Amino acid sequence: MSGNSVESDAKPQASGTESKKPSTRSKSTATDIDSDGSSSEDDSTMHMIRRFFSKTLNMASDKEDSTVDKVIPELTFEGLLSHWRENGFKKIVTMVGAGISTSAGIPDFRSPGSGLYNNLQRFDLPHPASIFDRDYFEQNPSPFFVLAKELYPGSFVPTPAHYFVRLLHDKGLLQRHYTQNIDTLDRLTGLPDEKIIEAHGSFNTNHCLRCREEFDMAWMKRKIFADELPSCEQCMGLVKPDIVFFGENLPESFYTRPEEDFDDCDLLIIMGTSLEVQPFASLIHRAGPRCIRLLINRDAVGRSSFAPWLDASERSLLYGKSKNTRDVAFLGDCDAGVLAVATALGWENELQQLVTSGREEHALANPLNSDNETTDSEQVDSGHEEDFESESLTASSKDSNYG
Ligand SMILES: [Zn+2]
Repeated sequence: MSGNSVESDAKPQASGTESKKPSTRSKSTATDIDSDGSSSEDDSTMHMIRRFFSKTLNMASDKEDSTVDKVIPELTFEGLLSHWRENGFKKIVTMVGAGISTSAGIPDFRSPGSGLYNNLQRFDLPHPASIFDRDYFEQNPSPFFVLAKELYPGSFVPTPAHYFVRLLHDKGLLQRHYTQNIDTLDRLTGLPDEKIIEAHGSFNTNHCLRCREEFDMAWMKRKIFADELPSCEQCMGLVKPDIVFFGENLPESFYTRPEEDFDDCDLLIIMGTSLEVQPFASLIHRAGPRCIRLLINRDAVGRSSFAPWLDASERSLLYGKSKNTRDVAFLGDCDAGVLAVATALGWENELQQLVTSGREEHALANPLNSDNETTDSEQVDSGHEEDFESESLTASSKDSNYG
């Protein structure tokens, strides 16, 4: 269970340099720089090969690793935390995916075996992803609304990772929060609307597919919880939440905001995303060359699978690679990662307070849901994954008062 592994996740995975003495940072070999990647051996071999060619055939550039101009002296999680403590950051952008919501109990509906997936079986979907297919939806909207009922905002509580973003905002550091998630947990932390870009839309607004009449969240919620297909009061057309389906455009703000947001941005925090869904993943390329990119994720995502000399575009994250100048990774649970950051910065109590008061608010608003959520108020805990199946399956019968 991730909640108990905060310590063990935070320490060994976060500080790949512990075994090294700081004085060995002599940039003379690839392995000195290549501190936390599993590919260190590959990289070091590659480095030798490159050096061989550059010396003997004059094929490659001589100024490879020795002139790598690192943004901070130690490109490790620990190194980043030291830099943050000593110098601070002033303009932070966050980008997040489903991984920050899993500890809230929101299942990945695509996973066979999840309660949600099993519950959708009866609809005989051509593919689980069909539920977000616009054409399929227009033919057969029911599966989507069953999913919507189960995932409806109000049934889940934001995670410590969500509250960490809110804390960045409270401290005046957050420029913008980009989320792939449609669960609106980002909003539930109290993060103001103008700070959030829901790249894949949300339940916040709804439109008639025929006449474009807009309906608010409360209206849609009544329909969803009454198991009624939402039809337009003007033209009887089907009304759809403004969630981005396959084949639909992302909100305009996703394309217009990054220019301003990444101008002078000095830290991009990437959490809980596979970095495989475009165009969302392309946000990492908007960060300027001196912007540190911190990945907090269970898996080592975002790194090109191409050999370094083929990866000419350098369009991937480079943590653990010899050419890395500004990328850092914490490989572990999002909640463990933000807790490690908060602890290092002395923000632990503030984060804890946000989490605790958020859970209390939720418990007051959702008395029937409160049994599980309030039991762990002593500690920043990463939730109750094991409970999600029973919770999500019964969520539809609970009266949640959000919205
Ligand atoms: Zn209409």
